[in-house]
Amino acid sequence: MKGKTKISIIVLALFFLLAGCGKEEIPIEDFVQSNPATAAINNIMKSDTGYYYSAAYGKNLSLHYDDVESGQNIYLCSKPECRHDGDVFCTATSSKYEINSTYFYGGSLYLDVVEATETELLYKLLRVSADGSELTELVTYLMLNNDSVVIASQPMMIHRGVAVLPYRLGSIGNADEGVTGTYFYNLVTGELTALPELEYGARSNGRERFIGHGDYIYFNTQMNRKNTLSRYCLTDGTVEELELLNTYVGIYEVMDEDTVYYYYSGETLFEYKISTKETIPHEEAFLKRNMTYFDADDMELLFPDLEITDGLTYGMETIDRYKCQDMMTDGTYLYVAETVDFHNVNMLLPGMVVDAEEMIAGYVHVLDRELTEIAKVPINIKGLADYYENFSIKILDNTVYLQTVNTVYGCPLQDFLAGEPVFTTVYDHVIEINPGTVWQWQ
Ligand SMILES: [Zn+2]
Repeated sequence: MKGKTKISIIVLALFFLLAGCGKEEIPIEDFVQSNPATAAINNIMKSDTGYYYSAAYGKNLSLHYDDVESGQNIYLCSKPECRHDGDVFCTATSSKYEINSTYFYGGSLYLDVVEATETELLYKLLRVSADGSELTELVTYLMLNNDSVVIASQPMMIHRGVAVLPYRLGSIGNADEGVTGTYFYNLVTGELTALPELEYGARSNGRERFIGHGDYIYFNTQMNRKNTLSRYCLTDGTVEELELLNTYVGIYEVMDEDTVYYYYSGETLFEYKISTKETIPHEEAFLKRNMTYFDADDMELLFPDLEITDGLTYGMETIDRYKCQDMMTDGTYLYVAETVDFHNVNMLLPGMVVDAEEMIAGYVHVLDRELTEIAKVPINIKGLADYYENFSIKILDNTVYLQTVNTVYGCPLQDFLAGEPVFTTVYDHVIEINPGTVWQWQ
């Protein structure tokens, strides 16, 4: 944690130095280092000193910063007399922009927004400085007649200086089908490139589940219910399809430069080696061996025909299987969820609905690199929030974040790995999402 703080300060210092002599330098961070909110319902983003909050999904601009040390929650506006009510233009609040999603990257906030004029819808990428003093329109990546409907199918993400801007485009009266596309905007060169548009509809989602790793951005493509895994190369702009088995169902994780894990609903985890195009099944990853012990008296009752030797304890091995709902990695372990979704596959639904009786939302299985289970962690969210029905989980900087519609909780990773996480509130200020809109585009 301390090491990372120092690195970030050095990177920022470099940024400001270069900005000062007229040349802009963007820190080239990997996406996994930036944002605990990439998989969460709300746009809450962690910096080294606190949390940024931005409204999302069709709301007007609303930017806040929550300083951990002082406990202060402020609007991200540097105008001293500003009332932040949208009356005058302010970097924290403005009805000029509707926000799709926000990403904290390299010490700045990046906002994927829509600006509606009388005749057009302008889809833009904005940058807001961390202190709110500057708001810059970086690029207008889509310009449409205002009888079109664009649906933010996925939140934006940024990896190694490239912002990924996914969109879905329908028309008023029919938003259930149309085309879906992906823009890549290079924050350093200003270059905007697009992947070919795909049709979307009841059987096709297009590209989803973007993961940045090394020089690549990986994504799943679902067309006519068939999933394929591809990766876009940041250095030469090529797209390569990985040769996974056709049992691949769209759930994958990139473990290292050469290793992708993917899931088949027949309860097998596959390991794919990119260099050799080889798939290795790991059925054992979904087997949990439990030992149940009986003393001699129990054994006599259970198995009357068995010859029992007095005074011995007998163990019985049972094997359970579980179904993988989602998976993610923190670079060290693979986290496999039984019932919890980690990724924002369907816009605002990375979470799941909790069984109110049980209040156990599900289990996260922690596997090491050999895919041996080292922990099975119950996610018990009873009492954590008044609105508990949707949440997501993300691991960042040795903290496990659990985010609900209203609040963000955190728990030290080591407590989580010990199997009994205790979550405490880390951000409980303004969260303006309306849960009623969550299902709108499903
Ligand atoms: Zn203001």
